[in-house]
Amino acid sequence: MLILVVNAGSSSLKYQLIDMENEHVIAKGNCDRIGIDGHLSHKTDDGRTLNEDCSFPTHTEAFQKLVYALTESEASVIKSMDEISAVGHRIVQGAEVFPETVLATDEVIDKIDELAPLAPVHNHAHALALRACKKVVKEGTPMAVVFDTAFHQTMPEKAFMFGMPYDCYEELHVRKYGFHGTSHRFVSKELANALGKDPSELKIVSCHLGNGSSITAVDGGKSVDTSMGFTPLDGVVMGTRSGAVDPSAVCYVAKRKGFTPDEMSDYLNKKSGFLGVSGIGSDNREICAAAEKGNKRAQLVTDMLCYEIKKYIGSYAAAMNGLDAVLFTGGIGENSSEVRQGVCEDMEYFGIKIDAEVNKSTRGELKRISTPDSKVEVWVVPTNEELLIARDTLALISK
Ligand code: AMP
Repeated sequence: MLILVVNAGSSSLKYQLIDMENEHVIAKGNCDRIGIDGHLSHKTDDGRTLNEDCSFPTHTEAFQKLVYALTESEASVIKSMDEISAVGHRIVQGAEVFPETVLATDEVIDKIDELAPLAPVHNHAHALALRACKKVVKEGTPMAVVFDTAFHQTMPEKAFMFGMPYDCYEELHVRKYGFHGTSHRFVSKELANALGKDPSELKIVSCHLGNGSSITAVDGGKSVDTSMGFTPLDGVVMGTRSGAVDPSAVCYVAKRKGFTPDEMSDYLNKKSGFLGVSGIGSDNREICAAAEKGNKRAQLVTDMLCYEIKKYIGSYAAAMNGLDAVLFTGGIGENSSEVRQGVCEDMEYFGIKIDAEVNKSTRGELKRISTPDSKVEVWVVPTNEELLIARDTLALISK
């Protein structure tokens, strides 16, 4: 049985075609720079590749290219889209409307779109992708939607409530939802497997660090607190997102600059973070390279990120009354030894000691980077949200 997994962002459409008999990825790719200048990269399990500059004005054209790559190109892997049994879509915000994976009916897609104000960078793009996808698969092909917020539904009230009037929660549904749940769920389980333990026995701090970053306290296999909040803007400093700031500063800046609420949201979501502080760019590689050359603001934003993560680890160890392991995942977490080093240095009080050499040489692989005498194990755990989405999709359509 073949399942297509779709991870649509505002300007990208990542996909994987997975054979669920053996969970083997047959082909994967990315239609990147949608609405900008368009680039397709596609790769098959037998080593064939496609790399083409092309035009994707919208997600619909990106999906048409995906169909071409899978069915017609010299790197095709199937004869027709009819061979695909189901599609699983990653969705960032499900709020309390979607506490679990569901089938994407038209009503569900509209509801996902309606939730866009809660995830300004993501939900509308997901709805566009869902509608575009429906046009290219065989009529009646089940599509499942897997929500990043679902894993965090186990957070206790004391962790997800804000200290605002209670009607904000009751009427406006303002609360902490948390994101990257699919990733935190996958990697915390992978780590438990690697340690030979049942997830129920472990207290883990999971650090998903990428363009968007979140830190989650996973106690006994369940999310009990997480750094992202009402939207994916909260928590640590990110590529273009500010992370947590004093709400009064937001009101003050909006007033002084004459921003509307949407303009203020843009300022915090798209112009802040690594980009805003450094003035260089949003990509961690650029930031690290500039910091190495002595750029002070690039160094500053790296220091801010490491310091903020360090504080989350400390506070979550306190919240869980213990800590067995810290894990790093996501583009930065899996690849940036500089960030991992910056987070883990001077953490002996918490029982965290990493091996600088092992850390430096570890990139994108499941590996322990702590020293043998470190009380808390520190691991790099590659995430695989697509596989978890495919498993959820299969479980749903098998019901
Ligand atoms: P993601 O959103 O998980 O795809 O992660 C994207 C982030 O990972 C960007 O900031 C990249 O600069 C960063 N990243 C990817 N590869 C590397 C690498 N080899 N070294 C440092 N950072 C990396």
